Amino acid sequence: MPTYPLRALVLRKTKLGEADTIVTLLAEDGRQVRAVAKGVRRTRSKIGSRVEPYAVVDLLLAAGRNLEVVQEVQTISTHEAIRSDYDRTAAASVVVDFLDKVSVEGQVEPKTFPLALATLDVMETAEPDDLRALVLAFLVKALAMQGYRPTLDSCARCACEATDATMFSAAAGGVLCSECARIAEGVMPLTCDARLAMGALLGARMADVAALRIPRPVADEVLRVLGVFAGYHIPARLKALEYFARHG
Ligand SMILES: [Zn+2]
Repeated sequence: MPTYPLRALVLRKTKLGEADTIVTLLAEDGRQVRAVAKGVRRTRSKIGSRVEPYAVVDLLLAAGRNLEVVQEVQTISTHEAIRSDYDRTAAASVVVDFLDKVSVEGQVEPKTFPLALATLDVMETAEPDDLRALVLAFLVKALAMQGYRPTLDSCARCACEATDATMFSAAAGGVLCSECARIAEGVMPLTCDARLAMGALLGARMADVAALRIPRPVADEVLRVLGVFAGYHIPARLKALEYFARHG
């Protein structure tokens, strides 16, 4: 079987039969790749202990008929501090679950992998209080990469200047002026602070997100609005995000 190398982030593992595992990966170029890791649930499998969610790995894959087959694994980063901490796991699971739902086999999206790694790296050492802002920054950036960049400085419907907008529409894709808010459907309130925070999160590097010092009530509001926005445009249910919104 011909083999090839692949650097990837492990998004998810699912059982296959008695001893095998299917690994869902985000490749470095943003494609989703699914591969079988054979025998990994038997004791002391080297491959099994290395392909864990949140790990960044260098794989040697053999091209299979339906699924690739993992031949070798080398760990680049385990992100162990995420796996061993409840709050960090809850935050990071939003990242891998989102990427699992939006990445597509054969579809290159070069920006998602660097964003995912930057997010997980910062989540590893972040103060627990900053995890929420990191989740929000990842979400708004990842949605923008998927083509859903929220319009925040002008009306998403009529494009008039709407710098004092206090309404948001997921369907329209951003804030609405008062005229449009009156006639559009599915409009929800958005305070000025939350609108500014969303814009700041969109523009900040992951390493600088904590320094934005977004107050908890504002972060909660941004989370609520982004949850509706993501739910409207992403067809799959984002269970980790729902969980995080309730418990994070
Ligand atoms: Zn308008």
